[in-house]
Amino acid sequence: MKKVTPFTLNDVQRWAEDYPTPFYVYDEEGIRECVEAVYDAFSWNEGFREFFAVKACPTPAILRLLESLGCGADCASVPEIVMAQCSGMTENKIVFSSNETTYDEYRAAVQAGAIINLDDLTQVDVLEKAVGYIPEAVCCRYNPGQWETTNEFMGNLYDSKFGMPEDQLFEALRLLKDKGAKKFGIHAMLASCCISNEYYPALARELFALALKIREELEITLDFIDLSGGVGIPYRPSEEPVDIAAIGEGVRKAYDEILKANGIELSIYTEMGRYITGPYGYLVTKVIGKKHIYKEYIGVDATASCLMRPAIYGSYHHMTVLGKEDEAVAGTFDVVGSLCENNDKFAVDRELPEIELGDYIVIHDAGAHGHSMGYTYNGKLRPAEFMKRDGALKMIRRAQTMDDYFRVLDCDEEFMEARR
Ligand SMILES: *Cc1c(COP(=O)(O)O)cnc(C)c1O
Repeated sequence: MKKVTPFTLNDVQRWAEDYPTPFYVYDEEGIRECVEAVYDAFSWNEGFREFFAVKACPTPAILRLLESLGCGADCASVPEIVMAQCSGMTENKIVFSSNETTYDEYRAAVQAGAIINLDDLTQVDVLEKAVGYIPEAVCCRYNPGQWETTNEFMGNLYDSKFGMPEDQLFEALRLLKDKGAKKFGIHAMLASCCISNEYYPALARELFALALKIREELEITLDFIDLSGGVGIPYRPSEEPVDIAAIGEGVRKAYDEILKANGIELSIYTEMGRYITGPYGYLVTKVIGKKHIYKEYIGVDATASCLMRPAIYGSYHHMTVLGKEDEAVAGTFDVVGSLCENNDKFAVDRELPEIELGDYIVIHDAGAHGHSMGYTYNGKLRPAEFMKRDGALKMIRRAQTMDDYFRVLDCDEEFMEARR
């Protein structure tokens, strides 16, 4: 799919007068349309809800938008819970899908009215000790160890630290029921960035079959099944996006055949992150250097501290040189940041047009697991984030300042005051 930007060189030149690059821009309309398509695809399921994985793009402005569209949040820490709460997500609008969880985290989650998704059998006890009781609605995370469709999707689940094998899942549900839980769900995330229309339907089949077995053996009828995240996006122009309507239809078919035919009706939950915001976030950066040594380098003012996926996973992120969208390829370049780390490369051997200092490069598909994964190595401050709404930019996170950076440090206050 051809990659285009929802703004022009002119827009960015105007914005950059007020805000220095690098910065992130999110396209509100894109996110909205995406969420609406998700809800359309699952409209056959009365209780359907998307619990956006907060870690993908933790900003209240985005969570408020998602909340207004009917979404909840999937959280795994107290700050994520608080962010969901301050964005209007209340009782039953938060799933707490944590692992290696502290007492404080369980308490905060239960206080927020979150549905607790237990990662392990031992956590039944931990939850009860932390909170004092077992909440009414609980969920257990499943890890089948091996999954016939897995190789294509995720690799060996024996190596995955998440979830519990079937026997432990059954034991956990039995314990939870004995301890007074009333509403039950199961959850599994067996893939990451899977651009296949078959992943959710195949996962649904697996979990629906498990639901029948749970009813038979434990006399528990599940209230919901959480398909979690993992739906991918086409990072490369050569890839095609998934067809969310076909995915919803595939899950419906499995639901009718396995659950409905056996007299079970339950709610389908999802916890997508990447699919919801990934394609609608753009990292805008400026060319500040050109270096010709053994290879050709383009230096930009963003670094892996802004977007670390290329550095840590070798991920492809497409680039548009604004104003040069239709220009011919002039050669291959490594596009690099300024970290003292040789993996600080947004692209390696990338075909690009002729580039001048001052050109703006837009890095695509940075809307999920982008800003949120960033860090401050080499003293690089965190970039600002903006929401593009009706052609205007609204700041949703200001850039980190030097004062922010030094505030938590034990340092010479007088010196810092004098240099301000
Ligand atoms: C990361 C995560 C998600 C979201 O994953 P995406 O690949 O962004 O869709 C959902 N649920 C859980 C429990 C996660 O850890």
